[in-house]
Amino acid sequence: MYFATLASGSSGNAILVGQNNRSLMVDCGIATKRILANLDVINIAAGQLEGIVITHEHSDHIKGVGTLARKLKIPVYATAGLWDELEDKIGTLRPEQKNIIGRSFELAGMKINLFATSHDSRESYGLKIISHDAALGIATDSGMITEEMHRHLQGCDAYVVEANHDVERLWQGRYPYHLKKRVSGNRGHLSNVQLAEGLIEWLDENTKKVVLAHLSEENNTPQIALATVVDILRDSRIRRKCQSLKIRVAPRHCPHELIDLSS
Ligand SMILES: [Zn+2]
Ligand SMILES: [Zn+2]
Repeated sequence: MYFATLASGSSGNAILVGQNNRSLMVDCGIATKRILANLDVINIAAGQLEGIVITHEHSDHIKGVGTLARKLKIPVYATAGLWDELEDKIGTLRPEQKNIIGRSFELAGMKINLFATSHDSRESYGLKIISHDAALGIATDSGMITEEMHRHLQGCDAYVVEANHDVERLWQGRYPYHLKKRVSGNRGHLSNVQLAEGLIEWLDENTKKVVLAHLSEENNTPQIALATVVDILRDSRIRRKCQSLKIRVAPRHCPHELIDLSS
């Protein structure tokens, strides 16, 4: 299995996940032109994309979905509840491009399990994507770590997970009070510390990579997110377990290098 974030944060999110030259995209919150350019950067042919899976209906996750699906003639996968919200927002697709999914399905030769996150959208999901050689846990846009997140995110080989804000920066920052409440609330976004506490429960000796994603431009920096998570993990009981673990931050507008979990 290989993966890369193509863009990450409130200005747009997309994650490429593939195996054996068959790929899927998780969300598509940036313009088609940029998606295609960013795929080019990581040497992934757009022709290997077999579908787009939607985590929730916020525009930073879906604003490029309709255009990309129409251009590449690929299907879109979302729950029935999310389709109620998507219909108006992504424009017309051919009937065969609309796939209503349950909590478990297969795409591009990989198994995908959906689990609920806690977010102020109609519905919101994280994903565990399993190939023949690896498991990738993806969870952004959650105000708290849900029971379902704990159940599904144990012992993955890699993670793309939200480290949205530094709590102090958020409360001392420029956001109006209602927005501070929203971001830090149970249906908002995960702080660096909340995520680190989740990782302590999830990581095991097989975990190779953690990509910190969906960082707030205003209330976080890549340096603060990385230092906070690394410090908490270093001081925790799992320190010895994760000798081969590498942690990095997802860039906001461009891809990080393609991470190949089979090598
Ligand atoms: Zn988002
Ligand atoms: Zn959201």
